[in-house]
Amino acid sequence: MKAIRRFTVRTVLPEPLRGLEELILNLRWSWHHETLDLFRSVDPALWEAVGHDPVRLLGEVPADRLAALSEDRRFLRRLQDASDDLNDYLTAPRWYQGLAGSGEDAPPRAIAYFSPEYGITAALPQYSGGLGILAGDHLKTASDLGVPIIAVGLLYRHGYFSQSLSPDGWQLEHYPAIDPNGLPLRLLRDASGAPVHVTIGLPQGRDLHAQVWLARVGRVPQLLLDSDVEENDQANRDITDRLYGGGGDHRLLQEMLLGIGGVRAIRAYCEISGHPAPEVFHTNEGHAGFLGLERIRELVSEAGLTFDEALEAVRAGTVFTTHTPVPAGIDRFPRELVQRYFGGVNETPDVPVHRVLELGAESYPDGDRTVFNMAVMGMRLAQRVNGVSELHGRVSREMFGGLWPGFDTSEVPVGSVTNGVHAGTWVAREILDLAAREVPAVVESGRGWDGVRVVPAGEIWRVRRVLRERLVHDARRRLRESWRQRGASEAEIAWIDDALDPDVLTIGFARRVPSYKRLTLMLRDPERLRELLLDPVRPVQIVIAGKAHPADEGGKRLIQEIVRFADDEDVRHRIVFLPDYDMALGRALVQGCDVWMNNPLRPLEACGTSGMKAALNGALNLSVRDGWWDEWYDGQNGWAIPSADGLAAPDRRDALEAAAMYELIEDHVAVTFYDRDSAGLPRRWLEMVKHTIATLGPRVLATRMLRDYVEGYYTPAARSARAMAADGYAGARALAAWKQRVLKAWPGVGVEHVESSGEDSPHVGARLSIRVVVDLGGLDPSDAAVEAVYGRVDESDALIDPAYLELAGGDPVDGGGLRYVGEVPLTRSGAFGYSVRVVPRHRLLAGRAEMGLIALPPAPHGMTNGDLR
Ligand SMILES: *Cc1c(COP(=O)(O)O)cnc(C)c1O
Repeated sequence: MKAIRRFTVRTVLPEPLRGLEELILNLRWSWHHETLDLFRSVDPALWEAVGHDPVRLLGEVPADRLAALSEDRRFLRRLQDASDDLNDYLTAPRWYQGLAGSGEDAPPRAIAYFSPEYGITAALPQYSGGLGILAGDHLKTASDLGVPIIAVGLLYRHGYFSQSLSPDGWQLEHYPAIDPNGLPLRLLRDASGAPVHVTIGLPQGRDLHAQVWLARVGRVPQLLLDSDVEENDQANRDITDRLYGGGGDHRLLQEMLLGIGGVRAIRAYCEISGHPAPEVFHTNEGHAGFLGLERIRELVSEAGLTFDEALEAVRAGTVFTTHTPVPAGIDRFPRELVQRYFGGVNETPDVPVHRVLELGAESYPDGDRTVFNMAVMGMRLAQRVNGVSELHGRVSREMFGGLWPGFDTSEVPVGSVTNGVHAGTWVAREILDLAAREVPAVVESGRGWDGVRVVPAGEIWRVRRVLRERLVHDARRRLRESWRQRGASEAEIAWIDDALDPDVLTIGFARRVPSYKRLTLMLRDPERLRELLLDPVRPVQIVIAGKAHPADEGGKRLIQEIVRFADDEDVRHRIVFLPDYDMALGRALVQGCDVWMNNPLRPLEACGTSGMKAALNGALNLSVRDGWWDEWYDGQNGWAIPSADGLAAPDRRDALEAAAMYELIEDHVAVTFYDRDSAGLPRRWLEMVKHTIATLGPRVLATRMLRDYVEGYYTPAARSARAMAADGYAGARALAAWKQRVLKAWPGVGVEHVESSGEDSPHVGARLSIRVVVDLGGLDPSDAAVEAVYGRVDESDALIDPAYLELAGGDPVDGGGLRYVGEVPLTRSGAFGYSVRVVPRHRLLAGRAEMGLIALPPAPHGMTNGDLR
């Protein structure tokens, strides 16, 4: 029998309590403490029993309690306050509404944000890990800042699995069914009240139907497509059954629904609600990439553009964020699968299947011709692409450099926006209250973080103790539950009453369990770990959580290794594995631990955000310099586990990094934590905590991330999209025609001759004159830029961080070709070199590398000098 939780507010709530319905239907409660207080006061015991889920609370609260509340003047006043506050929050102008820029330069009227998963609250289990949590934080922060995002995703009937353990420590998975009627969602209905359906064509003339659920994340509407509708056969109803379930076909269908169905859902939503149409489309990872195809189809069929013209218009307004530096993590389909779903009877003449296949083809030297690569398509369909930390940006430029052959890695057009976290979701209330009391400036304006340094150390320590103790109690409760599930008797779990200690240095360690995260690195030398845990003077305790992908047997073995170690009587009071890592457990962990530990294989962690959450709560990070920690570790805000990432032998590398980690914990982390002054305070530790909050606080917040996206991506993309769309898409038409011309002419473009003078007596401050003759293959000089590339060179004459100078000219020379000249300043001493190149140039390109076309001198034509003085 299907487990269903069902709840229909309208029939249950007495009239005076109707306001609760609106409060619950807006997920802002998930990060608004006053509203949560109000829910709790409905029935405090039940609130705990339903795991802080307000929908379940109202579904289960006895009718006589509701009747009493509807006559409780104090409760009704608080309800009114909460409703007023929500209304203010939804309507008052916020940061975005104060942004400068008008007309063509204005920030976008609306942005569509696509993600296959969202972590908004533990009560809505529609996420598996970091990608979803980030998407949830993105929406909440967009709401806080007033950024006009419309979010699109899928509604999974089984969400992600919940995890428990077998008696011998093996991961067991359960997929509790959700009933959307029991969630804070409403069906999207048209003006007549009928549910909106989107339909997409499938091979064999079948249609896939989906209804659309509407959630409200503060000011942000979120549309979730759901294929579990009567018009579908069972196979199609199951398309949205679970997150990342099933193989090739199933996943492709999910992604078609998300991308193509998502655009159609947005169109319906905007028409019904009067919401402005998105000018920018942001795809969080490649899974939603088909949205670009749907927008091309719209433009071809509705605006009469050709495929290439539509492609230009779509690219200009698309932002693609890539999230994985692990090649195996890239989403790829067999080419013939895509051929089958986008070809045959399902092919529309507006979007020919061979064009679709081209977009996802790995057409670079070591690419695989048999696959369709969603990330590669993402890059071809988006004029702006970014990774999620500076290091990940660099790694991505290398990883995808093959799409821009001939360009140096540094010029590959992939930028970065380092992830951030949503304070309201992750920061403990006690910390927020302390901040409001001691440093109100930070709370009000988000500025003045240095004020944290004057907060009395004793106050911080007191709050840290409260949070650590809460984690200890929460961990004991979870541990008891887990041991009971594993079949232990009450007598066998009596020890749990004393498991963990609210005064012992607490290390948090939670993650998904792909191999690069190295769950078991700490077990490398079990005796050494045991000593650290049981140190009589400076003990350490470790709280661990994590889920392995259901198909990942290796990951499950790692979990079992940890569980077996932690089951041992000698150490079980100091190291615990807590099953079912989700947002609620994550929050308890990042708030209660003193140290957040992270030991991925550098550089495979794209960003990581758990350590940011911990830092905002006053914990210190102990981590391999990967992702965000590579960028912001400063020697005072925690510890860097040295990475042996040059080492090819994985076993040797693990051994070295583990040894360094043990040593850091023993000689630095524990020593600092237990070094107390006469008042019992760890002075140095608390200095580090203050320094962490003061310096990392403003950076790790998702408000910084959202501003970076708005200023660096959304607004420039809106500008480009407007330039393409103006005057009946004249820009897109012109750019497409120009690209055709350039592509055709490019084989004839070349650098014929290079000469320079001034290198006979080079010294700093001198100038090098460069004269070049190029053949533009019939292109006009306005179509191309001829550039000198110059700067320091290494032993093999490769230019390091070169500068670029556009050469002037374009005058014909006798005997053919065009002459260009320029003067390069010699600004620094040492080995110096230059080269020249020709690249396409057009005002509507976002960068010189965009087309991946470049012409270089035939032979290595740079020159190298000895010492420049
Ligand atoms: C923050 C968070 C993540 C992402 O953490 P990483 O640092 O990227 O490993 C995953 N799951 C949950 C429940 C989280 O709260």
